Amino acid sequence: MNPRFFVDSSAIERQGGGGFVAEIAGDEAHHALRVLRIAPGDEVVVLDDSGLEYHGRVREVASRDKPPRFWVQGETIEPAAGEPPFRVCLVQALPKGDKMDLVVQKGTEVGITHFAPALSERVVVEYDPRKAEARRARWQRIAQEAAKQGGRGRRPQVAAIRPVLQCLVDLKDELILVLWEQAETPIKKVLREENRQGIGGVALVVGPEGGFSAREVEAMEALGARAVSLGPRILRTETAGPVAAAIVLYEWEGG
Ligand code: SAM
Repeated sequence: MNPRFFVDSSAIERQGGGGFVAEIAGDEAHHALRVLRIAPGDEVVVLDDSGLEYHGRVREVASRDKPPRFWVQGETIEPAAGEPPFRVCLVQALPKGDKMDLVVQKGTEVGITHFAPALSERVVVEYDPRKAEARRARWQRIAQEAAKQGGRGRRPQVAAIRPVLQCLVDLKDELILVLWEQAETPIKKVLREENRQGIGGVALVVGPEGGFSAREVEAMEALGARAVSLGPRILRTETAGPVAAAIVLYEWEGG
């Protein structure tokens, strides 16, 4: 797969004949020129989080004595095949240690489009508001790298850490599924019953290592969530989200 670079949409200029010119600068340009050694004539893909891919060749590279910058020109603009056709949001109660890094990386590979790190009753990691933005920015970087590696058309968005119920309140027309190992209803049953057409996306809510309390599940159900089971085996918190997202996309993506 040709190297992929994310830019702001303002960095891409559509041309009259249907082609485009894109300017890549900053960290993406530094990585391209100093690490990947991208050179004029190389084929690359530029993405602007619109879900479109801009295929072109490097036309010009800024001289080494200037800040890293290069320009890409091309004619082929097409939807990114690796981008799901609906939102898949993972509301993940903060796991211990650096397991959230793994959740974001594997979740991005699978097709999750939004990550909402959450606080719930049994979250044991210490939440320090002063470090929250640095943690979010780290997860956002992991999401970007996994999106490039996986051929995604958009960088998944990583939200600020918030209480789990507040994460649900902001969801608009998502089908909200609380992953609860004590639930009677299998996830498959809900996905096959629901009419996907009227739904903007799916939100998957995963508890921490200690799980959700029955009281928490009731509170989420009161907000319209459905408690569903992933089956008879207990998955680790860092496994449950990506697995559930894969199940949703297997059932609902494509034909
Ligand atoms: N209460 C669990 C136990 O008895 O070990 C611990 C929670 S589990 C390690 C972490 C999270 O993964 C749960 O809160 C739930 O969201 C999800 N999960 C794990 N296995 C699941 C299953 N079979 N069905 C639904 N959710 C599951």
